[in-house]
Amino acid sequence: MGRIIAIANQKGGVGKTTTSINLSACLAEIGQKVLTVDIDPQGNTTSGLGVDKNTVENNVYDLLLGECSIEDCIVETEIENQSLIASNVNLAGAEIELIGIDEKEYILKKALNKVRKQYDFIIIDCPPSLNMLTVNALTAADTVLVPIQCEYYALEGLSQLIHTIELVQDRLNPELEIEGVVFTMYDARTNLSLQVVENVKGYLHQTIYKTIIPRNVRLAEAPSHGLPINLYDTRSAGAESYRLLAQEVLHKGEEEWQ
Ligand code: ADP
Ligand code: MG
Repeated sequence: MGRIIAIANQKGGVGKTTTSINLSACLAEIGQKVLTVDIDPQGNTTSGLGVDKNTVENNVYDLLLGECSIEDCIVETEIENQSLIASNVNLAGAEIELIGIDEKEYILKKALNKVRKQYDFIIIDCPPSLNMLTVNALTAADTVLVPIQCEYYALEGLSQLIHTIELVQDRLNPELEIEGVVFTMYDARTNLSLQVVENVKGYLHQTIYKTIIPRNVRLAEAPSHGLPINLYDTRSAGAESYRLLAQEVLHKGEEEWQ
C-alpha cells in the first residue's frame, strides 16, 4: 500500500519542489515505485522530472474537476520507477471552480485510493499557500513532510501550518501525522544556518530528519535540464544528501508502517 507524503509549507522558496523531485527520484533509484503528484500551478515538479507540462494530455486540474480518471492522467516519465501526475497553470483557477462541488476536500484522496496499491510512495508537491489544493493534499496524505529553509525567518508561518494540519486532523483526516521536518539550503560557511537548526530543534517537537540538505548549486541547475539531481550530477553533495533522505524516509516507513 503506497505511503502518501505531502510536502508542504506555505512559504515559497523553502525547497518543497526541490525535495519533491529529488526525494521521489532517489526513492525510485533504490527500486521503490513512486508516483509524484504536482499540485502547484507553477508545474515545476512536472518539468523538473522531465515532462513538458504544456503537452501532457490530462493533468491534475482535469482530475480535480472530474474531467478524467486518475488512470488517464498518470504519465510514465523517462525515469525508471517514476510516474507523475502533472500540473499546469490552469490549476491556478481550480479553487474557484471547485466552489459548490460536493466533498471537494476529498477529491484527491478518493482518486489516489484507486491507485495507491500500485506504488510504494506517493509524493505530493504542494503550492505555497494553505488553499483548497493544499487541503486536498493534506486530506489525502498519511504524513506531511515540512521543508524548512535555514534562514533567519525559518519559523515564520510555521505555527499557521501546524494549525492547518490540526484543523485537517480534526475535520478531514484524523490519521494525518507529521512525517518530519527537513532542513534545506544549509550553508556550512555561516553561523546562521547552524543557529537556525538549533533554534528550530528547540522550538519544534516534531521528528527532525538527520539528513540536512546543503545549499548546492547543482540542485538549482538540475531542473533546467529536466533531470533530478541523482541523474544530473550523481556525485554532487545535493545528490548524496537526497539519497540519504530517501533512506531515512524508507526506513522510518519500515519501522512505523509495517
Ligand atoms: P518551493 O517549492 O518551496 O517554492 P523550491 O524547491 O522551488 O522551493 O526552491 C526555491 C529555489 O531555491 C529554486 O530556485 C531552487 O532551485 C533553489 N533551491 C532549492 N533547494 C536548494 C538547495 N539545497 N541548494 C541550492 N538551491 C536550492
Ligand atoms: Mg514549489
